[in-house]
Amino acid sequence: MSARYEAEPLTARRVSRSVRVGDVQVGGGAPISIQSMTNTLTADIAATEAQIRALADAGADIVRVSCPDEESTAALKTLTRAATVPLVADIHFHYRRAIEAACNGAACLRFNPGNISESGRVREVVRAARDNGCSIRIGVNSGSLERDLLERYGGPTAEALVASVLRHAEFLEEHDFREYKVSCKASEVTLAVRSNRLLASRTDAPIHIGITESGSARTGSLRSAVGLGVLLAEGIGDTLRVSLAGDPVEEVRVARMILRSLGLRSGGVLVVACPGCARQQFDVGRVAEALESRFGERVETLRVSVMGCVVNGPGEALGSDIGLTGGGRGTHQVYVGGERAGRVCAGDGGEDELVEELSRLVEERLGLTQGRQ
Ligand code: SF4
Repeated sequence: MSARYEAEPLTARRVSRSVRVGDVQVGGGAPISIQSMTNTLTADIAATEAQIRALADAGADIVRVSCPDEESTAALKTLTRAATVPLVADIHFHYRRAIEAACNGAACLRFNPGNISESGRVREVVRAARDNGCSIRIGVNSGSLERDLLERYGGPTAEALVASVLRHAEFLEEHDFREYKVSCKASEVTLAVRSNRLLASRTDAPIHIGITESGSARTGSLRSAVGLGVLLAEGIGDTLRVSLAGDPVEEVRVARMILRSLGLRSGGVLVVACPGCARQQFDVGRVAEALESRFGERVETLRVSVMGCVVNGPGEALGSDIGLTGGGRGTHQVYVGGERAGRVCAGDGGEDELVEELSRLVEERLGLTQGRQ
């Protein structure tokens, strides 16, 4: 069921060492994994479990949960048993939370050892991580950089962010712990790009990329696509998170689309549609949007083209799994597997019929037709 048109990677990926997050390999040439984060109270096990499931169903490979208190790390015991994807415990300052999370099944700790002043405590966290097969992500953000680095570099510059990552990493290296990945996030796209370029030249650890606090679904998706797109196109990034305010499932959909656009992963129903113009024989936008909202959460790889007329329609349809090209007098051409498969007649205002016909074909192709008349 492969479409004829699929993006190909623009460049070779940066060589990084491999780190495990549960059964997911990050770095070392593994596929770029998609992460997201729950926004429920972690101690609310039912709600968090449901959200982890929704994220995994949408295609997340790894899910992070906040662990600000003991109730949250205690909940990890149940959550990690129920989850089908590895969980990362997000710890900020309290070393005991890190130890509890490692002991309660977290596959990775998001934890900056430099935030803990005593070396003995770092040793305890490292021991708990090692004993429980747990990796660590050092995560530096432009909004929470150490004061001395801000002063030395004159603000949250790329050099300051990378210096912070490397300083945290040293704490782990001192304890002979190399099962860590790193991230350098900023809400400014250009700063995030510059920081990650610099970071990529200074370490062989796998890099988790993301534009932090990128905004709402629309703004954040665009800003993430630009920032992550630049980095990924340069071969930088072993795992990623698209951070959006709102439903985290949308983060996974956007991440999948970014990776697919760059030929770095397959997956998802991609609806290719022309912008429409005076030649369009039906309302292209309406049909495309209806299909996206109906199939946007599917993880199977499928390409559907919705084109308003014969100018570019047949060409796109031939490269798609399913295609629709607008024709004259309300008679439109349908393509399946790159071949003409018949016509569908839908006059003025017939977009609903077109959506139904294309949906039927998509469902048939995805093996979802049971129960549909
Ligand atoms: S395919 Fe046809 S309708 Fe669509 S933008 Fe091109 S010319 Fe216009």
